[in-house]
Amino acid sequence: MKTEQIFTYGSYLRNKFGERVYKVGINISGFTCPNIDGTVAKGGCTFCENDSFSASTDEVKELKGFYLNLDSVENPYLDKQLLQLQQQFDALSARLRREYGATKFLVYFQSFTNTYAPFDTLKALYEKALGFDDVVGLSIGTRSDSITDETLGYLAELAKTKEIWIEFGIQSIYDETLEKINRGHDSQNVKEWIIRSKKAGLNVCGHLIFGLPGEDKKMMLETAKEAYEWGIDSVKYHSLYVVKRTALANEYARGEFTPISEEDYLDVLTQALVMKPKNISVQRMTAGINDSSLISPDWCRDKNQQIRNINKALKEVGLKY
Ligand code: SF4
Repeated sequence: MKTEQIFTYGSYLRNKFGERVYKVGINISGFTCPNIDGTVAKGGCTFCENDSFSASTDEVKELKGFYLNLDSVENPYLDKQLLQLQQQFDALSARLRREYGATKFLVYFQSFTNTYAPFDTLKALYEKALGFDDVVGLSIGTRSDSITDETLGYLAELAKTKEIWIEFGIQSIYDETLEKINRGHDSQNVKEWIIRSKKAGLNVCGHLIFGLPGEDKKMMLETAKEAYEWGIDSVKYHSLYVVKRTALANEYARGEFTPISEEDYLDVLTQALVMKPKNISVQRMTAGINDSSLISPDWCRDKNQQIRNINKALKEVGLKY
């Protein structure tokens, strides 16, 4: 059987910019999440290790304990955040230039909820990032309940000349599942903001999780199908895994949650890819962490092995990653 290459995000960028574009992941201190700071909920999604929210303060120690939100009236630490952005970009881009000969970059505001701050702060950070040498655009990870019309309108302006992506966590289209994982917003909210972002001319990446509590394969595939129909341009598939210091770890310890098996994940992933419209690029298919924080499942430890097993499963349906 002839195998067909899946349309990847890397090839999307290569086609558009004529060469490989490297995503540079940035963590800005002072950003948090409305699902953690008590605005919509406390504790965060059950799988989220909230401790990580203090991890990026090393470079800017004064910001420890300082968090922004949509209503913050002033941000006394903006200069420090801009400096942090510069330092992180310089260090990471220099390494990518040295090791891979990289000459084009997309700045990825990765950790926390990256539109959850006053507009002036966001504008200053996004503009600074776009001004770095060889940066072709931005990718902004956020929640659909944490972006304002003002920010969306501003990003839509930027998108006329730059490559602008918004990444929304969809996770599941089932509200009962979103409640179980303490997501803090419903599925309608994500759908609405994806459609609004698309109308504004932005590129949208949707994050999906397979193996959420109480979901069967039919539900996971229905989530993928709907997300495709909402008009996303790119997708990240993850399996749900359990790490220490999370609510999910407690559920796992009490025997209330069983992680998806690799066999089931491969099955559902393969079916989701087969039904995926060809124009939607794939940004990732693996999830996990290879350190002592991982409780279960063990197959989420080795990313390279996951990729090998994914390709083996895809081969049977005539696809490769
Ligand atoms: S939305 Fe993201 S950052 Fe916020 S609690 Fe959930 S996983 Fe953590």
